[in-house]
Amino acid sequence: MIEKNNKMEKIVSLCKRRGFVFQGSEIYGGLAGVFDFGPRGVELLNNLKKIWWESNVYQKENYYGLDAGMFKHPKTWDASGHTTGFSDPLAECKKCNTRIRVDKVLNSIDVDADEKLEEKELNEIFDKYRDKIRCEKCGAKDFSKVRKFNLLVKSNLGDFTSEGAEPVYLPGEACQGIYLDYKNIVDSMHPKIPFGVAQIGKAFRNEISPRNFLFRVREFEQADTQLFIKPKENKKAYENMKQDRWNWLLSLGINESNLKWHQHENLVFYAKDAWDIEYKFPWGFDEIEGIHDRTDYDLTQHMKFSGTDLNYVDQETGEKYIPWILETSMGLGRLFVAVLDNAYKEDELGGEKRVFLSLKPQLAPVKVAVFPLLKNKPQLVEKTREIYKNLKKEFKSVEFDDNGNIGKRYRRQDEIGTPFCVTIDFDTLEKKEGVTVRDRDTGKQERVSENDLISFLKEKLS
Ligand code: ATP
Repeated sequence: MIEKNNKMEKIVSLCKRRGFVFQGSEIYGGLAGVFDFGPRGVELLNNLKKIWWESNVYQKENYYGLDAGMFKHPKTWDASGHTTGFSDPLAECKKCNTRIRVDKVLNSIDVDADEKLEEKELNEIFDKYRDKIRCEKCGAKDFSKVRKFNLLVKSNLGDFTSEGAEPVYLPGEACQGIYLDYKNIVDSMHPKIPFGVAQIGKAFRNEISPRNFLFRVREFEQADTQLFIKPKENKKAYENMKQDRWNWLLSLGINESNLKWHQHENLVFYAKDAWDIEYKFPWGFDEIEGIHDRTDYDLTQHMKFSGTDLNYVDQETGEKYIPWILETSMGLGRLFVAVLDNAYKEDELGGEKRVFLSLKPQLAPVKVAVFPLLKNKPQLVEKTREIYKNLKKEFKSVEFDDNGNIGKRYRRQDEIGTPFCVTIDFDTLEKKEGVTVRDRDTGKQERVSENDLISFLKEKLS
């Protein structure tokens, strides 16, 4: 058993040590709430995106991909309600100025509080419990009043005069790009309802207190689908959508006991239903994906604010209506941490303790690693490089490693979840006895002839 409270520390340390994730702007002391994906991390992230795209665009009928520009007309965020309603409750420690997110801090001491409550109500609850809340930095119990803090991040795009210009915001959520292009998709692709649009896009939120590694950050990526349906035909489609998302997470190898549903109790006024899929992070269950039944709210709002007719006209029946929308929205950073946490294992192999990531081969950042048994034997190295080049052509993400002894090379590859290591020794050269292929999970080794190596690995990796 791995102790829960230090599992997260171990994962964060592995991420840095092995090139998965770095603190953003680290050489300048870091920038809070921003992280960079390193060489191994970007491979894992891209694999997740590829699999997501495959199942949400290619394997579905009537789903269309999109990549909308990040900057949007300022009215977008008025129409969506973000300029007025997209805020979190904040209080500040009067001693050291540390800011807390009031609803989350209250929740952590088992007090019911939702970020959607009005400032007045939140102040009433906070005042009742303020003597139980200490500043996590200086320990003082002296906080300011609660005020709502808007999460949108402003830019100065196109703002050359400053006078009265409405700011262009960075996207607070990626899905608005889909709503803005809904009409273009209808006019260019002529989809029949129901149809879906899938997009992976960046979102920015001025989070009051970024925390838990990639879980709550200020810049992140969302993988969204929006399903446009006939009004009131939401029930069955919504249930199917929920099931589909659950199954997709299982297909990544996530253990079902690490997942759970959470239904929203305080719905925004237009929503019919909202469920989150939560993952059991080392600090407890927390949201990774939201599945929302949003009615016709989004398109109605954009129609009102833009003055553009966003009605859908059924070509066969002539029916005209504003489609309702069912949405799935997943934070890829949160999924990334969930996948790593789910795969993180410690065991003993050959009397030695080791850490390994039991990632599905499709997710593994490196598919195969290739080693010469000894690095100071030119013939061995030459042969290894030849095999390495051939494997790289086939499997792309392949590593050559001649650093340290074989045991150390295995440990390094285990830690990043490489499914197979191939070692070239003198028997490969002299007796033409093939190469040694070692399996990450079991540590078992088998001899495979050089000619069969690619097909052998292809089968195992598929
Ligand atoms: P939370 O309640 O945790 O702030 P949310 O309900 O505001 O999240 P949504 O607006 O529904 O989140 O966004 C959809 C998804 O985007 C979330 O399920 C989550 O995976 C991801 N996400 C939202 N905010 C963040 C953030 N600050 N950092 C990383 N991922 C985020």
